Amino acid sequence: MSRQFDVVVIGSGPAGYVAAIRCAQLGFNTACVEKWLSDSNKPVYGGTCLNVGCIPSKALLDTSHKFYEMQRHFADHGISAEQGSIDVAAMMGRKNKVVEQLTKGVAGLFRSNKVTGISGAGALLGKGRVRVTSADGSEEELSAATVILASGSEPSTIPPTPIDHELIVDSTGALEFDAVPERLGVIGAGVIGLELGSVWSRLGSQVTILEALDDFLPALDRQMARESLKILSRQGLDIKLGAKVTGSRTSKGKKKTVTVSYESGEGAGEAVFDKLIVAVGRRPVSDGLADPAAGLAIDERGFVEVDEYCATNIPGVYAVGDLVRGPMLAHKGMEEGVMVAERLKGKKTQVNYELVPSVIYTHPEIAWAGKNEDELKQAGVEYSTGSFSFAASGRALAANDTDGLVKLTVEKATDRIAGCQVIGASAADLLQQIVIAMEFGASAEDIALTMFPHPALSEVVHESALAVHGHAIHKANRKR
Ligand code: FAD
Ligand code: AMP
Repeated sequence: MSRQFDVVVIGSGPAGYVAAIRCAQLGFNTACVEKWLSDSNKPVYGGTCLNVGCIPSKALLDTSHKFYEMQRHFADHGISAEQGSIDVAAMMGRKNKVVEQLTKGVAGLFRSNKVTGISGAGALLGKGRVRVTSADGSEEELSAATVILASGSEPSTIPPTPIDHELIVDSTGALEFDAVPERLGVIGAGVIGLELGSVWSRLGSQVTILEALDDFLPALDRQMARESLKILSRQGLDIKLGAKVTGSRTSKGKKKTVTVSYESGEGAGEAVFDKLIVAVGRRPVSDGLADPAAGLAIDERGFVEVDEYCATNIPGVYAVGDLVRGPMLAHKGMEEGVMVAERLKGKKTQVNYELVPSVIYTHPEIAWAGKNEDELKQAGVEYSTGSFSFAASGRALAANDTDGLVKLTVEKATDRIAGCQVIGASAADLLQQIVIAMEFGASAEDIALTMFPHPALSEVVHESALAVHGHAIHKANRKR
């Protein structure tokens, strides 16, 4: 006899657990299958995001930011602190506690919403049929009208730098160092490379980031990318662009090191590190997710193929989150989970894929959404821009946190906001004000006519909207 549910979700990362909870809220008898186990063999919910992604990285970013501030900026406030030291074990202990609280929180939410958590690896056998293999090898079959696949992603690797979990690690290993490496190499100047590089740099590592592309942060327009590069370089990150890693060798004698070879415009180079983080992107986890007989369509890169509503080629089977096309971001998967659940109930919920906010949690944060200047130029859309620097914000000056700017792009014909980029303290939260405005089709004038509290960092958003039409009050406006 197989257990029967209305909905079975495979994977409990942000896409899967949110889908399961929303399905349960809507009255579906829902199960969520998760294979992640704790050291004591208990199921752990929350996926990459809660266990080895968004949350632990932010915990370490917050600790290291406080340490950096103490060392570099407390004196500006007249506070004299000892040089200070970092207790890495205590930092990791705090991070682990945060993770535990949140993952247990998901288990609690499952209980209160009556989602049945099932421990084991799920595999789609066909329409409405899932096999669960638990850690002890026992198997159970589940049946459900709807199956939602949410098995997420894992770190990509490259042949020149195989992960050895000691000297060469992926993002998961970089969240677990037991000491601050003296010389740290990072491959990849993407979101994860910059965040983890920043953590260890602030704690004292000499960090070199090797990036194959010539362009820094291609998702930003070139002005904002240059500004970001300038700020992060000033903080001590040595970011080598156009440096493609081609090989590595480790020496595990008395002094353990890893030597990385790379090719750049200046020819071949080598660099020696005490640890190396490989942060070259992530790939979907779809191997073994479906029995070949089920006929699930998976593309050549391993993504499950879905339509705009996350429906796969098999009726009643959906896929959400990092497992499918689109940016690999927790909130994108959460929205997809909600959409699938609500559409099962007949609602017309959609995900606005044009407006997915992205954030790099360095300090200052770097955040963007919508179309930037370069993209509008390329698309031949007539546009205006408005920008304003934090250096001219009273609140930012009071906080001694003046790096960065807000830059808005606006369609000339309609004055509608087309995009926003923010480099600055709390950029994620400032960006979100514009994302909400954009969801409502706001114009630059709408923002300009809105009252903002003073003094607040959000005034920089206000001034950038005023600047679109040359009306910024607290700077000299460009002649137009
Ligand atoms: P996942 O979170 O990967 O969860 C998938 C789950 O499915 C896992 O628990 C896995 O064990 C389980 N699973 C897989 N196969 C099976 C199976 N066959 N049976 C049962 N269970 C299975 N995103 C952001 O938006 N903001 C950030 O700040 C951010 N920071 C990040 C920092 C780091 C260091 C990393 C690595 C990632 C970060 N991300 C961030 C990305 C974010 O973590 C992912 O986009 C998100 O976790 C994807 O959610 P998901 O539910 O699709 O998959
Ligand atoms: P992201 O996908 O945003 O996490 O970024 C990963 C980054 O790693 C991309 O910018 C890639 O260009 C970069 N990358 C991939 N392979 C290599 C390599 N062999 N050497 C240096 N950088 C690489």
